[in-house]
Amino acid sequence: MHDNARFDTRAIHAGQEFDPTTGAVIPPIYATSTYVQDGIGGLRGGYEYSRGGNPTRTALETQLAALEGGATGLSFASGLAAEDALLRTLLAPGDHVVIGNDVYGGTHRLIRRVHGAWGVRHTTVDTSDLDAVRGAIEPGTKVLWIETPSNPLMKISDVAALAELGRAAGLLVVVDNTFASPALQQPLALGADVVVHSTTKYLGGHSDVVGGALVFAAGLGDAPGVGAGSGRTELADLAERVTFTQFAAGAVSGPFDAFLTSRGIKTLGVRMERHSSNALAIARRLEEHAGIERVFYPGLESHPGHELAARQMSGFGGMLSIALAGGGAAARRFAESTELFQLAESLGGVESLVNYPSEMTHASVKGTEAEVPESIVRLSVGIEDVDDLLADIDGALARLASVE
Ligand SMILES: *Cc1c(COP(=O)(O)O)cnc(C)c1O
Repeated sequence: MHDNARFDTRAIHAGQEFDPTTGAVIPPIYATSTYVQDGIGGLRGGYEYSRGGNPTRTALETQLAALEGGATGLSFASGLAAEDALLRTLLAPGDHVVIGNDVYGGTHRLIRRVHGAWGVRHTTVDTSDLDAVRGAIEPGTKVLWIETPSNPLMKISDVAALAELGRAAGLLVVVDNTFASPALQQPLALGADVVVHSTTKYLGGHSDVVGGALVFAAGLGDAPGVGAGSGRTELADLAERVTFTQFAAGAVSGPFDAFLTSRGIKTLGVRMERHSSNALAIARRLEEHAGIERVFYPGLESHPGHELAARQMSGFGGMLSIALAGGGAAARRFAESTELFQLAESLGGVESLVNYPSEMTHASVKGTEAEVPESIVRLSVGIEDVDDLLADIDGALARLASVE
């Protein structure tokens, strides 16, 4: 593969060299915990024990780094395991994190309850509002954590502007790129330091594996604020320390999971095109309906982040949310009356799913500043035939109207 290969070519070829022993086109699933040594310390290819390294995982980690245009990719047992490895490596008691007020509920819970328990502090803020972010930064702030589009309200935050703001303040700027996927948005190219993924979602893409990833940008030795006492660590050094945490704490992905994720990634580009076109058609249909108070989809001209999304993304993705005019009761009825859209947590698979955030994905943030209104329903639009999906939405809307 050429160094300047484009996205879809990298997705298929990066890290995916054929097996030198047999010529197998696809790198094998190395189902092994350990590796024979040619004499003590005589490792073949550097592999010693599969918590520290496994060739199937290496193939995925190389692919992940190439997708995001980063220097180092690391693959974990889940998205939250990846987030935790980064945070626990970087933070000490008393340190402070600025986090979006509309992020994945589990991320908020991890920072609030797990890291909060040993003294890490946080401030929750609307990261689509630059002044609000600026106001939330304190002397002890080490990390600015952004999710864009956000979850579930699909707010768009300006990654380039936030990266600049973070750099000036000496912070590490982390972007959770799960919703857009690298096919549609490349935060490192916009100036972010670290990208986080739940590969469970679009990267795996088939709802058959749980996994997570971190991708680190190349080092930033010339950035202002780097150095002793600054939250902005040299990135190559940070990547090395997090790699140690991955090995020493052990939340790695197994070879079967790594294989499934690599396999999914190869079709990411074409899947995201179809997710995006299907979601736009559904967003437009929902926008016309009187029972729907508001449609949150960055591909709609009515979305406040539309222009920014058009600038920093190459497509608008497959996630959208709606606010039902009839409030919580109507939202629950809608979420329970689709058929093709199956009621389930998670997102990003080829099949369409519907979720009721306030009691499902975001139940853990009830009663906090990140609480999701009861009138909200979130859709993960799959890649089925769009006419079948529209018919399903029409059916659910008709049932809504028949009760009201
Ligand atoms: C699902 C999700 C996570 C957590 O990932 P897991 O693989 O479930 O641990 C983090 N961020 C976002 C945006 C998610 O959707």
